[in-house]
Amino acid sequence: MSFYSTRGGACATASQAVLWGLAKDGGLYVPSMFPQLSQETVALFCQMSYPQIAERVLRAFLEDYSIAEIAESVNAAYAAPAFDDPAVAPVKHLDDNLYLLELFHGPTLAFKDIALKLLPYLVRLAAQKNQEEREISILVATSGDTGKAALEGFRDVPGTSCTVFYPESGVSALQKLQMVTTAGANTHVIGVRGNFDDTQTGVKRLFSSPAFHEKMAAAGRLPSSANSINFGRLAPQVTYYFSSYAALVNAGALRMGQALNFVVPTGNFGDILAGYYAKRMGLPVGKLICASNRNNVLSDFFSDGIYYTHRTFFTTMSPSMDILISSNLERLLYEYVGRDGRIVRSWMDLLNDCGSFSIGAQRLVELQKTFAAGFADDTMTAAEIRRVFEHTGYLMDPHTAVASHVLGAYRKHTGDHSPTVIIATASPYKFPEDVLASLLGEQATAGLDVFVCAQKLSAHTGVPIPRQITELQSLPVRHQTVCDRENMEQALLDELR
Ligand SMILES: *Cc1c(COP(=O)(O)O)cnc(C)c1O
Repeated sequence: MSFYSTRGGACATASQAVLWGLAKDGGLYVPSMFPQLSQETVALFCQMSYPQIAERVLRAFLEDYSIAEIAESVNAAYAAPAFDDPAVAPVKHLDDNLYLLELFHGPTLAFKDIALKLLPYLVRLAAQKNQEEREISILVATSGDTGKAALEGFRDVPGTSCTVFYPESGVSALQKLQMVTTAGANTHVIGVRGNFDDTQTGVKRLFSSPAFHEKMAAAGRLPSSANSINFGRLAPQVTYYFSSYAALVNAGALRMGQALNFVVPTGNFGDILAGYYAKRMGLPVGKLICASNRNNVLSDFFSDGIYYTHRTFFTTMSPSMDILISSNLERLLYEYVGRDGRIVRSWMDLLNDCGSFSIGAQRLVELQKTFAAGFADDTMTAAEIRRVFEHTGYLMDPHTAVASHVLGAYRKHTGDHSPTVIIATASPYKFPEDVLASLLGEQATAGLDVFVCAQKLSAHTGVPIPRQITELQSLPVRHQTVCDRENMEQALLDELR
């Protein structure tokens, strides 16, 4: 299978797509076709472990990797103790026809670990396959969770370095602490004075700058991406749509072949896009429900077909979704315009020049057959955390609560109560102040630091604090660089020197 660019150019192998991250024409790599996994195969998944399912899913896409290479990689990536649950991505029952897919059992307590524990293995193999001798310099823009997961994934991996740019005041206190305390001789963390969109745009600009590539090449480095624009990030995320489906069939909650809905808290559209890919591969996915926070550019798009970014950017209690330019939507659009890269390019140019584009009524109708959408602001999110805890005893993080709220509204509006999985993307202990305030009111957290909030939260709910959080208290801060958004290139070159 080859990989094309969403903007019409380029043809690459799977390993080249993983190695290069972004296509040279600025587009994103997409597979030339969707491999099909039959219902018999999905039935076999019911007897398989998570790494075994991952191997089958990845094999279908990564044609120039051997089966042995993929098997070794997934076994190493998903082994204990990095993941504290043998199921890797366990499914929990919440309510009638309602389940949670917990994706936060990895080292950094957010769903990014599922892809970023595996990506370094795929990148190193890709370098070998393409006789790449240079150091692979991973560059990441993070809205909070990708950064730490990438740092942990690439920390001390030979032949690589990992540099993370984060919006200096756009991530939670704990997310920041997780990043700036990272050890490892090849890790770099740089705060940017700006928001996530500024940060992501700055990194994308580096990738598309020939002068930057030359400077890096002269220093013996090949820049690559660990953001979800990299196909190597996306492919591992397809696995858990299959594994959760199989788990529900196993539990007797679903008949094989029955449609299953997913509601996905969405920022850069990577996670939900993986669900769309699973559907295109033959998994009986019903509706994919896109949940936004107050930065509701996507839920607006799914209701009127207009993507419109000239709006106020809000900092919310679900920071990993504080995004207005949702990169992976481009991959979805590509599929809905008959894979015509020229149309995608024209829309992306409009977005760049005028801040919006419109896909037209006909295409919107097509999109709405698969996608529904909604949003929750912080007040609704806090109320949902409290409601779910009081009703079921389950403690949600703010991102998961956004999804839960949006599902409630969707069910009320459509009457569609089919079996549904909420993608639970982070541990509530990544956001202890906001979660505690949601349960007990703002005054309960006043003047308390995050660790005290975590202890109060645990005392109130009985949910244990993960060791990754407790450990942070005693780790020294190792990264203090901060730069203006115009100076990201220089800050990076200084760090790497
Ligand atoms: C990254 C992230 C999201 C959004 O995922 P996308 O793939 O960017 O849509 C949601 N929740 C959490 C906790 C995240 O870290």
